[in-house]
Order: sequence, then structure tokens, then C-alpha cells
Amino acid sequence: MKISDKYTFYDKKDIEIVTEIIKSKKLSGTSNFVLEYEQKLASFFESKHAVAVSSGTAAIQVALYALGVKAGDEVIISSACPLMSVVPIMELKVKPVFCDTNENDFGLNLNDLKKLISPKVKAVIEVPMWGYPTNVIDLNKYLKRNNIPLLLDLAQAHGTQINNKHLSNYGDISCFSTHDRKILATGEGGFCLTDKKNLYNKMQSYIKFGGMNGIEYGLNFKLAALQAGVGINRINFISKQLKKRSENAHYLLNKINNEKISEFKIIKKGLPNYYTLILTTNNYNAKHFMDYLDRYGIPSDIKRYNFKVLYKYPLFKKYLRKCKNSEKLSQNITTIPVHPGIKKKELNYMANIINNYNINE
Ligand SMILES: *Cc1c(COP(=O)(O)O)cnc(C)c1O
Repeated sequence: MKISDKYTFYDKKDIEIVTEIIKSKKLSGTSNFVLEYEQKLASFFESKHAVAVSSGTAAIQVALYALGVKAGDEVIISSACPLMSVVPIMELKVKPVFCDTNENDFGLNLNDLKKLISPKVKAVIEVPMWGYPTNVIDLNKYLKRNNIPLLLDLAQAHGTQINNKHLSNYGDISCFSTHDRKILATGEGGFCLTDKKNLYNKMQSYIKFGGMNGIEYGLNFKLAALQAGVGINRINFISKQLKKRSENAHYLLNKINNEKISEFKIIKKGLPNYYTLILTTNNYNAKHFMDYLDRYGIPSDIKRYNFKVLYKYPLFKKYLRKCKNSEKLSQNITTIPVHPGIKKKELNYMANIINNYNINE
């Protein structure tokens, strides 16, 4: 059996709204449909303001600009996150400072973070990988005391919660991607959320060439109206899809009975969105397990993207800072698809393969 790691969603209202937008004869990013999409985003995530942008990477760049991060500054970021989270930092000629994660989750380790704080640090980025919650509440409190803004890269964490609230409630700005593989998918796209009016205004200006006034700096990062239309319709389905993901994950977990394998630890009062299920081989390297699953057609994001701590890539070698927990975390896990397109028969199949795994073979 071959399990697909991609969920392809289709709803006939996607076509209806896209047709309506084409008929409106206004397809640019200043269309009223983009405004409507932003209002729906803000309302779904219980945030005051939303800014639709052309990608998740653009969202991070726009957010860093609004937070006043400039060339020569430093930004602290987890060493266990995707390349795309760091590239916008590089593009702004800002220095990424890699921070270790916690031993059992992808949250920044506060003890390590404390060593890195300096007047040069202008922002901190937290990346809750595969939609597993991190303790953004304590991180936010700590950074508030030090007057450093928190940027959350929630590209994989639509719907992830802590204390019954979306993680985005705890970031000064939260950035999301709506790339075709993400939980809210518009093909390409992204958005930023904030409760702060001044940050919202700066972001709206930056994505429209700095208001074209020749005073402020800006580029074109607007989301096109057609993408916004797809988002307007698909946002209606997110809650139902999250529920299905969680049901699939729990169905599978209930069937897994292999002492070497368990679910990645969920922090207290945290709720994952099950963008994927993460399994851990605990103190063993998961490579052997991943290769085994691969032979039986069960894909892994770790394998697909060659996920490893960032300073192991040539691009970031010069920023090397040994991060013990991040290294261990990224080596001892694998991801399992539990998206709404996965059938019960596939869950049963995966459970069976996982249960037959023997680390010594
Ligand atoms: C997908 C992703 C991005 C980049 O989003 P794009 O829309 O592809 O630019 C950034 N950060 C994380 C954590 C992602 O998963």
C-alpha cells in the first residue's frame, strides 16, 4: 500500500467564488475580496487584524520589517525548523542566532535563550513544528519582561491551541502559510495576524510598496484576489478537517502497540492540530524506523525534506551553535500522515506495519 502525505481538497464553491471574482473584473490584491478574506481570517483565529500576503515566507519578511528588524540586527530562532523560516532573516541581512529547543518539544529552551539575549536581538521566532503546541505563554511572558517582540511561525500550526486559545494569541505577530500542502490551502499564499494596530498599519503599507508615497520602504507582497477567494471558501472547512485529523490520529494511536514507539510528547494544556502525527523512537535514532516505514509505502516529512538542525546546512555553518536537544529531537522522530484523505483501511494498515517493527531487524 502507498500512503499519500498530501491532502487534496476540493469543494464546488471554490469554483463559484473564483468565477464571481473573475466577473468582478478586479483581480489584484486591492480587491474587496481580499479585505473579506482578511476579516474571515481575523475572526477565525480570534485576532484583531489580519494581513493577506503572497506566501508564508513573505509573511515572515513583512513581520520582521514591521517589528523594525534591520540589517546588522540579530534574531533568535530555533535550530530545529525548516529552511523557509530562516531565509527571510538572511534576506534582510539579519544574523540568525540559533537557540536550542526543549528536550521533548519544539519550544525554545528558556535557559538557552537567556544566554543569547543582548541589545542586538530585535526579535525571537518560535516555530511549533508539525502543529505540535509549544509553551508560547511562558516564552511571551519572558520576552515581554525583556522588551523583545515574539514572532510565531505558525505555517504548520493552523488551529493548534494552548489553554483553549490559538497559539497566535501569544505572538506580537503570527505568520502563516497557505501553500497547497498546508492546512488552509490557497495554492500559494500566507497571512500575518496581530492585535496591534501600529504593526497592522506597517504591514499593510509594506506589502503595497510602502503606500507608494516615497517616504516609507515597501515591496509588493499582496495576495491576489483569486487566491483570497479560495481562502474565503476553504476557511469554512478548517474546523471539520481538524476534527477529522484528530480522530484519525487517535484511532491510529489506539491501535499502536509497540513498546519502542510512542507519540511525541504534547505539552500541558496543549492541543495539536495533527498537521501530521509525530511518532518518536524515544532514545533511538529514528532513521532505521523511517526506512522501514518507507519500504512499506508510509512517507515521512523528515525523509522528504531531509530535516535536520539548520547549522548542518552549508548556508548556516558559520552560525553553528551546538544545540543538543534540537539534534536529538530531530533525529528521534518521524511523521505519519493523518489528514482527512486517509481512509480507515490505511490507518489499520499503518498500525499493523508499525506494530510489526522490530528495532533489531
Ligand atoms: C511552509 C512553511 C513556510 C513557508 O511558507 P511558503 O508559503 O511556502 O513560503 C515557513 N515556515 C514553515 C514552518 C513552513 O512549514
